Amino acid sequence: MTLAEKLRQLIIEAQGRAADAASLEDVEALRVKYLGRKGALAELTGLLGQIDAAEKPEAGREANRAKNEITAALEARSVAVKASGGTVGSAAKEDLSLPGTAPLVGGLHPITQVIDEICDIFYRLGFQIASGPEMETDYYNFEALNIPADHSSRDDLATFYIENGKLLRSQTSTVQTRIMEKERPPVKVLAPGRVYRPDATDATHSFMFHQIEGLCVDERVTFADLKGVLLAFAKQFFGADVKMRFRPHFFPFTEPSAEVDISCGLCKGSGCRSCAQKGWLEILGAGMVHPNVLRACKVSPEKYSGFAFGFGVERIAMLKWGVNDIRLFYENDMRFLRQFSA
Ligand SMILES: [Zn+2]
Repeated sequence: MTLAEKLRQLIIEAQGRAADAASLEDVEALRVKYLGRKGALAELTGLLGQIDAAEKPEAGREANRAKNEITAALEARSVAVKASGGTVGSAAKEDLSLPGTAPLVGGLHPITQVIDEICDIFYRLGFQIASGPEMETDYYNFEALNIPADHSSRDDLATFYIENGKLLRSQTSTVQTRIMEKERPPVKVLAPGRVYRPDATDATHSFMFHQIEGLCVDERVTFADLKGVLLAFAKQFFGADVKMRFRPHFFPFTEPSAEVDISCGLCKGSGCRSCAQKGWLEILGAGMVHPNVLRACKVSPEKYSGFAFGFGVERIAMLKWGVNDIRLFYENDMRFLRQFSA
């Protein structure tokens, strides 16, 4: 290796070390090491007298260049160290080949996913998506829905009452009246939202959960339309082979009323632990809108009829994914929630 080559190598080495200097002390130590009186450059320059005359001009130029470039590199580093408050991280100490830390990517909550999927199905069946306030009056939560004053759901222990006669809605049926007050039939709406009941929390109950209310009012709407719409929904949501049955029931705001079951997806109707050996799972309540509810909204029951239905979103989500405890949806445990990220 010629002296000129050694000098070129010295420049590269010094520049690399300068870039690593983390403090002004480090920069000063490098200045002594490379440019000091007994430093590396002085040592190489001292050899100039011993080499062939032919090599001298090039080696001389490289010696000058080494002095200038190493001085410049140390000064630049010194400025950078001062600008960062005296010390900076060393570039070369970081292993750039290590994999990076992936940022946490958020996703939609499983309840939101189920609401979106259900809204999407009913939207394609011609329903508009609507919403209403969570803080309601006694009128919208009970009276307009034909719920008598002595009904158990109006008890202090069954509804969260707030001051000034307000309450937290215990069902999304409140949206029925609010929509019909504003819009004349035909009305086809789906109203998802949060509802509140002072229930003790356990594996299947929560003081807050989500409901979806459906309402269709027009001329000549019949129970057959209700069955057709719900079966179309169930087949799209749970699968084409699902079966559905209606059991007579009582709700104050619909007449006739029914509780609606779907066939158990696990045992296909033969009975298993999931369906308590019944072969059927209850998913919603439904019925024809009571004439009193139509009258409360100044819609003539002689001219119009309609159906309404409502179901709990958490229950549908639990059936869809086989989740056995409603509390898992609210605990923000990432190990649980990550399973549903798309
Ligand atoms: Zn079953």
